[in-house]
Amino acid sequence: MASSPTDLRTDDALRVLRRVFGYDAFRGFQREVIDHVVAGGDALVLMPTGGGKSLCYQIPALVRDGVAVVVSPLIALMQDQVDALTAVGVRAGFLNSTQDLDARRRVEAAYLAGELDLLYLAPEALGARSTLQLLERGRIALFAIDEAHCVSQWGHDFRPDYLALSMLHERWPGVPRVALTATATSATRAEIATRLGLTAARHFVASFDRPNIQYRIVPKREPRKQLLGLLRDEHPGDAGIVYCLSRASVEKTAEFLVQNGIAALPYHAGLDAATRAANQQRFLREDGLVMVATIAFGMGIDKPDVRFVAHLDLPKSVEGYYQETGRAGRDGLPSTAWLAYGLQDVVQQRKLIETSEGDLAHRRNLAAHLDAMLALCETVRCRRAQLLDYFGETAAGGCGNCDTCLSPPESWDGTVAAQKLLSTVYRLDRERNQRFGAGHCIDILLGRVTDKVTQYAHDSLTVFGIGAELREAEWRGVVRQLLAEGLLAVEGDYGTLALTDASGEVLGRRRTVMMRREPERVASPRAGKPRGAATVVAELPPTAAGVFDRLRAWRAATAKEQGVPAYVIFHDATLRQIATDAPTSLAELSTVSGVGEAKLSRYGEQLLTVLAES
Ligand code: ADP
Ligand code: ZN
Repeated sequence: MASSPTDLRTDDALRVLRRVFGYDAFRGFQREVIDHVVAGGDALVLMPTGGGKSLCYQIPALVRDGVAVVVSPLIALMQDQVDALTAVGVRAGFLNSTQDLDARRRVEAAYLAGELDLLYLAPEALGARSTLQLLERGRIALFAIDEAHCVSQWGHDFRPDYLALSMLHERWPGVPRVALTATATSATRAEIATRLGLTAARHFVASFDRPNIQYRIVPKREPRKQLLGLLRDEHPGDAGIVYCLSRASVEKTAEFLVQNGIAALPYHAGLDAATRAANQQRFLREDGLVMVATIAFGMGIDKPDVRFVAHLDLPKSVEGYYQETGRAGRDGLPSTAWLAYGLQDVVQQRKLIETSEGDLAHRRNLAAHLDAMLALCETVRCRRAQLLDYFGETAAGGCGNCDTCLSPPESWDGTVAAQKLLSTVYRLDRERNQRFGAGHCIDILLGRVTDKVTQYAHDSLTVFGIGAELREAEWRGVVRQLLAEGLLAVEGDYGTLALTDASGEVLGRRRTVMMRREPERVASPRAGKPRGAATVVAELPPTAAGVFDRLRAWRAATAKEQGVPAYVIFHDATLRQIATDAPTSLAELSTVSGVGEAKLSRYGEQLLTVLAES
């Protein structure tokens, strides 16, 4: 190794960035956070996924005296985090319940001897007296609290163990603390500051925008087929995550993809721990796997080349949706966030809320979260602008990289259609004291003589057949949008439709209802233009593309030999640049972003050999 860690401590932050991590310059306000923490200040850092939060504590860890203690809930990923740091020559270790006694003793000894730069801990470990006693015997440079939104009870990821972290401040008042998260509305942010005792901390809030992610929300028809189309047309051979609401649909979807020739794995809480761990390992280590999962999967997954995140069911909140979609494209390359959403989703989610445990306030909170999510689905505005709004940022104009910007939906005056539908519900309910689901109401409007229509003599209703001007899909869109706006409600086990207090305003012509037009068929903005791994290669000049492939093959073999994920060796972006620049000496190679001293001395010669053979 070219430099010993003790030398590093006398370096300033920029030299550490260049020598250790091989990057040229700081991004956003990394520099400000680092200077503030190095000087002993507390910080609350909000940056989107992929924004570069890790360096905000890793560099102070190297510059300040002592060991940085990193609190993270992601036990299963600690080994990877430590491997990635070891690969750049940083001394890191972790203590958690998965470790055997020997490994634990070694890390403890290294900590006490001051031979670690970073020590990763699960929050529950800090509840144990023995851990606290150990920590007290060493010298702590700083505390980093990762995934800090887990302390918020109104957020979407609450972990009770996080509440105890306020004691860090009381026990180690002189040690700076930096809390980091990729997701927080202003309310959640305030809660984080209060609960962690970070009220005097400086807040660093980056823009939440992820310009490389293309947001798309499409009407749900045959969701698995639609998904397959997306993967085949736009993401062949790419790694991605598909989220489903239930374990059963995770299993079915993974099977369906495998039957159709796509390498997919399932992940949900019903699988045993060993299978879950094995599937996660494979997803991180192998190229181009698709993980079909419930939301149990994904927090802290820092695989940089996830090219798409698809949702087959409606997420419960915008926070959750943003966190999940944020797992795409950490490397800054073009990625897709795709969601298929339909009437059934609204019915199902409303039912879940109605039957959920907890008091009225809790159910109201769930309903408010769902309403914000529905508003995002039904908006005719730029999706990104709507998302940023939600997180308290004002966006200027359209983004040019979401479905509504790429093919602006028409809006139409749906007041009359809404009145027809609401009258149907009214007639059934008030005149006949009957309630039905959306399907039957639409049949009545379309004048279909179904068995049910005959059975209840609904062809004698005055509304029978008055809705022939719209197609069935359009009527479903009307129902969905009325539900989203609270102008209609669903009730009970069968999802029957009922009027709300606000319905009267529409029926009484005191309110107009603008709607999003249901497209005949949504053409994908990029159909025929493959992205991801395929594009990464396609966009390179032909000679460089061949070299890039060989570099990837070398990386895959090296990663396998060492049992680490490929991106721990080098990121795609770094290999791309090597393929394009074609350096012929170690000095030239060292100028490539992502090639620091440790990796240069370890892999430099091998890379030059691969290049020379190309
Ligand atoms: P976050 O934790 O905020 O999601 P990471 O810390 O994992 O993001 O950083 C995202 C990616 O950006 C990583 O691959 C990281 O190596 C890279 N990165 C971070 N800071 C810089 C920088 N200043 N220059 C170049 N790459 C950077
Ligand atoms: Zn947009």
